[in-house]
Amino acid sequence: MIHELSDRELLERCVRFGKEALVWRNKFRALLPEVEKRKLYLKKGYPSIYVFGKILAGLSEEQVSESLNIALRLEGKPALRDLLESGEVSVNKIAKIMSIATVENERELAAKVQIMSTRTLEVFSRDVRNLHVKKPESNLLFAQELHLDEDVQSRLLELERKGIYINQLLREALDRREKEITQAKERVAESLPEQSSRYIPVRVRNILKKEYGQKCAKNGCSKMSKNIHHMRRWALDESHDPSFLAPLCLEHHQIAHAIDVRVQEMRRR
Ligand SMILES: [Zn+2]
Ligand SMILES: [Zn+2]
Repeated sequence: MIHELSDRELLERCVRFGKEALVWRNKFRALLPEVEKRKLYLKKGYPSIYVFGKILAGLSEEQVSESLNIALRLEGKPALRDLLESGEVSVNKIAKIMSIATVENERELAAKVQIMSTRTLEVFSRDVRNLHVKKPESNLLFAQELHLDEDVQSRLLELERKGIYINQLLREALDRREKEITQAKERVAESLPEQSSRYIPVRVRNILKKEYGQKCAKNGCSKMSKNIHHMRRWALDESHDPSFLAPLCLEHHQIAHAIDVRVQEMRRR
């Protein structure tokens, strides 16, 4: 009897049934392209596939058309198709990676869809797209983003007028900064104790902060960093050598670990 359940039992049941309801709804949605192909709904007296979806599974028109669209784009991608038909992930999640899915990478993507959140998949998909498309950077916007102080601006302008090659000057300054950080990292690494605890020492954190500020280390990402990621697996290495640490935002951290999982799987094979 439902009224005899404790709060905990009631909640547990809600979570379980809710999850199962979603899986079954996803499975239903995966059937729709075939129903459409056979025009089964007409044969059985439904005026359209939308009415069919609404009456049988309470789907909105949008959900029905989303299901039909994604099926077309899954042509020749059996791993993603299987995943969709299993009902284990939503159409929405698979839709997030369709713009980067190819015959070659679809198996790998299917594995990612299962472990990454919808939001992370969105970021991942954008990163992959950005790798291939070089977007033209507006110089004006770029200069505005730099927020140069007036004294710096006028000093640079003065040098430019004197015929000093400012780009070279700045390049050298940036290279010097990089070199200093690399050296500082090496010094910090040498000073670390043999036996590390999981706790990352303050001097390691400080040098990472100097390198990346408060932001995610991933190129082009301007989100706040949330986790310090060990690029070499902690279990193998147990070291906080800052050369192998990267502060990452939530999404890029999830992506880093998703890649990790794949590497582990490949090793197991
Ligand atoms: Zn990590
Ligand atoms: Zn990031």
